[in-house]
Amino acid sequence: MRQTFQAPPAQKQLPTARLLRHAFLLAEANNVQDYRSQILSTFGTVMKMDSTKKVVKKLSGQGRGSAEWFTSIGNEYSQIVSFVLTCEESAQKLQPMCRGVMDRFQLAYQPVPKILYIDRGCCRDQGPTAAETMFQEWFDGAMVVRLDIFHWIHRFDAAVRTDSHSKYGVFKSALAGAVLAYNRTDLELLIKAIRAKDPDTFKSVLEQDVVRLYVTRGQLQHHVRRVTLGAQETFRLIHLAIEELKGLAGPEWRAINEMWVGQQRHLECIQDPPGMNMYRVARTTTINGVDLPYYKSLRGCNSLELKANESS
Ligand SMILES: [Zn+2]
Repeated sequence: MRQTFQAPPAQKQLPTARLLRHAFLLAEANNVQDYRSQILSTFGTVMKMDSTKKVVKKLSGQGRGSAEWFTSIGNEYSQIVSFVLTCEESAQKLQPMCRGVMDRFQLAYQPVPKILYIDRGCCRDQGPTAAETMFQEWFDGAMVVRLDIFHWIHRFDAAVRTDSHSKYGVFKSALAGAVLAYNRTDLELLIKAIRAKDPDTFKSVLEQDVVRLYVTRGQLQHHVRRVTLGAQETFRLIHLAIEELKGLAGPEWRAINEMWVGQQRHLECIQDPPGMNMYRVARTTTINGVDLPYYKSLRGCNSLELKANESS
């Protein structure tokens, strides 16, 4: 018996790429408000504001040369809460961004952040500081302003013409060590984990040698929390480090010492606020069968923190 088949429907002409793109954009237009809300729903309890000229240099086309500074406010998760491009780095020019962020927090019923890290303008001899002026409401809401520790340490770079001076590298790590100390319990746990690889061999290796020879910078950074030592102790330790540098002949030592005299007033500004937990546990890492918390620091800028460790 013969069967009859219906002919398949005629193929539709594929829409052009242009039409597809158009349809996609039309459909996405409905989501813009949602995306906008998502982007603007970034909050936090530890804010960091810093400025750089680097990003602006990359501007091309019509915008080229129209801005000098890129200033951003980030949170403890390294998310950008807001940013602005300005022609100068003044409180007046940054005010609208600060106002906008504070309004956004208020509209979303978010509490005032606990700390604001800044890279300049932390203290002033008279009158309100730039940070106070820009973040008046948050300041009134008991937010603490701190100077970014690693930014403060890098200020000493300006006093040295040749970064390659071997003594200066030692001095830089002495600076970091004078401000921040390693948490003993965390360090012991890390040493235990390293030793677990080969207990017999490591039995005879001294603790400090385990740290010196077998612990990587990354492991120290991620598994050992650091605490600020207090302004007095930091002063004492840096004073010692500078005395030790004295052998450094010529104007270099004088420049470093001058920097130190000028930067002493910020020793209080770089201390962790009392009672504040400066780390969060991001995950757990297992090293040689030993579980270690993987910490993320809430303090200052992480990329600078990395650099500070590299030089140690
Ligand atoms: Zn200060």
